[in-house]
This record gives sequence, C-alpha cells and structure tokens, in this order.
Amino acid sequence: MEKTFINHFEGLTRNFAGDVILPGDSRYEKASATLFARGSPLAVLMPETAGDVAAAVKYVKEKGFPLAVRSGGHNAAGFGTNTGGVVIDLSAMNRIDVSDAARGKVRIGSGARWGDVAKVLGKHGLAISSGDTVSVGVGGLTLGGGIGWMVRKYGLAIDSLAGAEVVTVNEKLNPTASENPELFWAIRGGGGNFGIVTSFDFLAHPVSDVYAGKLFSPVTK
Ligand SMILES: Cc1cc2nc3c(=O)[nH]c(=O)nc-3n(C[C@H](O)[C@H](O)[C@H](O)COP(=O)(O)OP(=O)(O)OC[C@H]3O[C@@H](n4cnc5c(N)ncnc54)[C@H](O)[C@@H]3O)c2cc1C
Repeated sequence: MEKTFINHFEGLTRNFAGDVILPGDSRYEKASATLFARGSPLAVLMPETAGDVAAAVKYVKEKGFPLAVRSGGHNAAGFGTNTGGVVIDLSAMNRIDVSDAARGKVRIGSGARWGDVAKVLGKHGLAISSGDTVSVGVGGLTLGGGIGWMVRKYGLAIDSLAGAEVVTVNEKLNPTASENPELFWAIRGGGGNFGIVTSFDFLAHPVSDVYAGKLFSPVTK
C-alpha cells in the first residue's frame, strides 16, 4: 500500500525558491543520508540563495522543528541529518567565483566541494590550503579550521579567510576582521554554532608546480 505523508512545508514555499524533498520523493533516501549517517527528517530543504536560507531558518524556528545543516555531509557524528526534524542542505549553493585572480580574491558557496574548488582555482594558478579529500564540503571544513597539504606554508584554511556571509534567524551578516569581528573570530574554528554560513571570501595563494612523493623508512628491529 502506498504511504501518505503530511506535508508540513506548504507555508514555506512562498519565500523559498529551492527544492523541498519530502518522504516519498524518489530522491528522499539519498537526500536524508550523509556519508556516515542515515536519518528520517520531515524534509530536506535545498536552498539556492541566502534569502532561501533565511526563509527556511525562520520557518523551522516558527514550527519548532529540530534543524541540521549540511554542506558536504562528511561530519563523522552524522550532524548533517536527523530524525523528525529538518535538514538544510547547502549543496546547491556551490558557486566558485574568482573575482580578482591577481589578488587571489575568491567567493565560494558553502555547498561546494574542495575538489571542485581546486579545479576552478587551478585554472587561475591559485589554491587554498584545504583538506586532503575532494568530496569534503567547504562549509564544514572551513568552520572547523581546515588542515591541508599546504598547512606548513599557508596555515589552516581559515588563515586564508577574509570574510563570510552568515544567516541567523534574525539577520544576514557579513563578518570580516573589521566588521562584526567577534563573529568572524567565532566562525574561524567554532563550527556551525553561530549561524548558517552561505558563502566564504578567501584570499587564495599563487601555486604553480606541485610535487608529491612517498617516504619509506626501513623496518628495523
Ligand atoms: C574522508 C574525510 C577526509 C577528511 N580530511 C580532512 C582534512 O584533510 N583536513 C581537515 O581539516 N578535515 C578533514 N576532514 C574532516 C572534515 O573537515 C570535517 O568532517 C568537516 O566538518 C566536513 O565538512 P562537510 O561540509 O563535508 O560536512 P557536514 O557534515 O556538512 O558539516 C559538518 C558540520 O558543520 C556544520 N555545517 C556545515 N556547513 C555549515 C554551514 N555552511 N553553516 C553552518 N554550519 C555548517 C554541520 O551542521 C556539521 O555540524 C575529513 C573528513 C573525512 C570524512
């Protein structure tokens, strides 16, 4: 027998232009899982703009639903999904814009993956010190600090961060070192506790030749 589901999200669609994936949708099983967890949320919301994120957060708060936020879905504890709540999946917000290649200015949507970032920046002779795995999301890694191949030369991913766009339940903020500096400090390592980051402004580094190799030590008794 076909299951019927209550759609709790009819009221959301007025201000939210992204996709709403509900139980029963053929995409639901994939959309409700992360790399390490399976969940059964009431809905997976796929915002396309910061305005969509703001509408979703407001709606979820009004309804009192538990909320999980997901960029690349690689959190080991499975925080990118839940059961009985709502997931905001930022993977459609994955634009990678190089606005000034000479200065390394890059704006990256939180839902982008680091492998795609490397591909786009590589064409400009640029790179950001990020992680070692192409499928990890820009959102989660950056908010946690981000240790990557170039850490010794350029520091953590957050050491290349110049600003961000952050949506809270009340407002949209653009913290930098001089504007909302406390929030800027908090999102550089404080995880997803201070709002939903919709995009990051990085200062990428010029990188041309990349050398890789393996080092083996002899087995000694
Ligand atoms: C295979 C693998 C390799 C890894 N390699 C590295 C590495 O080389 N270097 C390194 O530093 N780390 C590495 N990590 C750890 C990785 O950086 C973290 O697990 C990171 O949180 C994953 O980010 P995500 O966006 O993919 O995950 P998600 O599960 O989407 O998010 C992780 C957490 O951040 C929150 N969050 C995500 N996006 C946002 C947002 N936009 N706004 C607010 N909160 C948000 C989520 O709610 C969740 O709590 C690796 C993990 C895996 C599984």
